[in-house]
Amino acid sequence: MRVIKFGGTSVGSAININKVIAILKTYSEEDEVICVVSAVGGITDKLLECGSMAQNQDDTYLSLFEKIKTIHLNLVDELISINNHDVKNNVETKLQHLKNLLDGIYLINELSLKTSDKLVSFGELLSSYIIAEALISRNFDAIRKNSQDLIVTNSNFTKAEVNFKITNKNIQEYFKDQHKIVVLPGFISKSESGDITTLGRGGSDYTAAIMAAALNVKQLEIWTDVSGMFTANPKLVKQARPIEKLSYQEAMELSHFGAKVLYPPTVQPVLDAEIPILIKNTTEPEADGTLITNHVNTYKNSVSGISNIDKIALLTLQGNGMIGIPGFSKRLFETLAQEKINVIFITQASSEHSICFGISDIDVQTAEIAINEAFEYEISLRKIDPVIVETGLSIIALVGDNMKNHQGISGRMFSALGKNNVNIRAIAQGASEKNISAVILEKDVKKALNALHEIFFEVKTKQLNVFITGVGNVGERLIAQIEQQRKHLKQHLRLNLRVVGMSNSRQMYFNEEGIDLANWKSHLNEGETATLQGFLDKIIALNLRNSIFIDITASHEVAHMYQHYLKESIAVIACNKIACSSDYNNYQNLKNLSRKYGAPFLFETNVGAGLPIINTLNNLINSGDDIVSIQAVLSGSLNFVFNNFNGETSFHDVVKQAQNEGYTEPDPRIDLSGVDVARKILILARESGHQLNLEDIKNTSFLTEANLKSDSVEGFYQTLIKDEAHFQELYKNAVNKNCQLKYVAEFNNGIASVGLREIPEGHPFYNLKGKDNIVMFYTQRYPDQPLIVKGAGAGAEVTASGLFADIIKVGNR
Ligand code: ADP
Ligand code: ASP
Ligand code: MG
Repeated sequence: MRVIKFGGTSVGSAININKVIAILKTYSEEDEVICVVSAVGGITDKLLECGSMAQNQDDTYLSLFEKIKTIHLNLVDELISINNHDVKNNVETKLQHLKNLLDGIYLINELSLKTSDKLVSFGELLSSYIIAEALISRNFDAIRKNSQDLIVTNSNFTKAEVNFKITNKNIQEYFKDQHKIVVLPGFISKSESGDITTLGRGGSDYTAAIMAAALNVKQLEIWTDVSGMFTANPKLVKQARPIEKLSYQEAMELSHFGAKVLYPPTVQPVLDAEIPILIKNTTEPEADGTLITNHVNTYKNSVSGISNIDKIALLTLQGNGMIGIPGFSKRLFETLAQEKINVIFITQASSEHSICFGISDIDVQTAEIAINEAFEYEISLRKIDPVIVETGLSIIALVGDNMKNHQGISGRMFSALGKNNVNIRAIAQGASEKNISAVILEKDVKKALNALHEIFFEVKTKQLNVFITGVGNVGERLIAQIEQQRKHLKQHLRLNLRVVGMSNSRQMYFNEEGIDLANWKSHLNEGETATLQGFLDKIIALNLRNSIFIDITASHEVAHMYQHYLKESIAVIACNKIACSSDYNNYQNLKNLSRKYGAPFLFETNVGAGLPIINTLNNLINSGDDIVSIQAVLSGSLNFVFNNFNGETSFHDVVKQAQNEGYTEPDPRIDLSGVDVARKILILARESGHQLNLEDIKNTSFLTEANLKSDSVEGFYQTLIKDEAHFQELYKNAVNKNCQLKYVAEFNNGIASVGLREIPEGHPFYNLKGKDNIVMFYTQRYPDQPLIVKGAGAGAEVTASGLFADIIKVGNR
């Protein structure tokens, strides 16, 4: 004999009921089958909604009733296409009884728990009848039996307790004489005094377990809409996977802590008889599912699953006089028990100065009033404070038999939550160490579950969620590089890099699943209007783990937003130099925020594009070295200009060519005035630990007074023509000394300067070609021969690769 239960989705449509029938066919060929069914998917909720509308004198309950009616009559038509007159009549009669009940509720405008149970019982009564008739019409040896004749409970309506003595006897008696298939409604029962009761929401699983235990069958099967109990709720965690085997204790913990796939009391009746529970998927019968037994497997993963319960409230009772109050906890929990409030979670500080517990948020008001009343006297004496209530919370729990044998699980759990800015309101660990739970804000649940799942079940991959502002030349190259390297990163670095949002100055576009990078331009074109605040708000609302904001603009306004990102623990990667070369206090503030919120703030590309200049400098400092001096050529544009200016061409023409070939800013004065280089050396000086501002950088310009005073780009070019002799003179002087002209940045003993220098032959700067940059670090460890970083220091491709390196650095942290 087998007991099989099918849930709401499994019997939610004619297509699925046909799948159920196919499964029953196979099973009944071998054995007798007891088939417990839920109401058609969604019907219990609809019945309750109808009831509440009727109670509130809202006559739209009538149209909802019509929907319920249509759903059931259509099922009859679809499942029993010929000779269905009698069945239809019976269903209509039942529906008429339902309608009468609803009308009654409407008239007296009252809906007691007793009536509510009667109301919802129609769901299972209808589904079991229709399914049994569908089987009979296909010539199965099937019968429907009303579980209310078998399962007897107390009168605790909506969650009645079973009288096992009578119930087991009834079941054993009835099943002496067996049909091949007996279809029973789940969830519903009858009280000793004959009223309809129910076993609690989700209770069909329990009905099946009661049958299985009473008849001591070999196995209980729960067929549902997922392929077993998953490592986390598959609706919230994409990467969750079915757990092959679980112990009864683990299954109980997971279901108690929110894994809805199994109604928590289900395990109890089968546990004593050691009947295994198999969870299977009706729409994917070939999948293995999850087997729950009393076998504790000591070799498997330390954490078996992660679950969550939403709509939790946390109540805290505290006060200096609490320690002296006799029987305090007893009184508190008795008060809650009297009000029938289920306590899900308790923590007490060892000082006993406060006690904190979690309950379902529907019970909050009752609990608050009852507790404040119970301790009225102590509160009036100020021995304790009135109870403090926090709502909008959830519990997340790690569950596993094996956790107690592994060190550091809670450490990993809380560090993952901390890194993702998940605020933890309370923590509890059961003495059995099968469960570690934390109370967090409901809005953080998805992020927390995914971050924990990644750590405990996907040790191998880490998801990085990237948001790019500014998708011009460099951004385009970065996206192309990400697209090209994604597979490699996954395989070799275990990083799952996704671009989730992007924006230019006009539009922004998001896709939580990761933007299809082959078509990002058309997606962005169809995006919504971009605003800096809107971009930030959307990223906060998405609340994804390991989020990274990348700024590839040259905008002051974007740079101003970094602080807000860091405060949300979102990493910031800046190609934009403005923030790091702005006022020192601002730079320092961003660094502090980065430290405080554990969010990396990286800007390697601020100096020398993709060259590892800042990274090298940081490594030197972090390993205890001291920077004595830095000498560098840091401007691709000025290199281009002075490498090509050779006395045969005019200075004006070379600058024009540099601009035309994209080596300068649109306004070449920014490069030629040395401001850009000054910003770079400023950043290096700051990263070396010096408090400098841009005004502190000595900038001796090689330009003439007239060049500097020009008020437009065109005007500037005119002055270059006029002052050609000045530039020829600079060139000739250098050549006469056998020198090359290079624009050099220096930092010595706390003083930074930039300017044009004559570089003699043999100097490492002398042969610098094209857009190459070079930086020489003289440090305590490298006093004579400097540590040199040299290579292409400009260009979209190398800048993008520098940003990429920063992204990987965030990923590997
Ligand atoms: P049924 O109607 O078949 O009883 P339920 O809706 O009661 O189905 O339970 C199945 C649902 O439980 C799944 O669709 C899934 O959304 C949810 N669920 C929550 N946590 C888990 C988990 N850890 N494993 C599997 N399912 C889970
Ligand atoms: N139909 C009931 C409910 O939705 C019982 C069940 O499906 O298990 O809660
Ligand atoms: Mg269920």
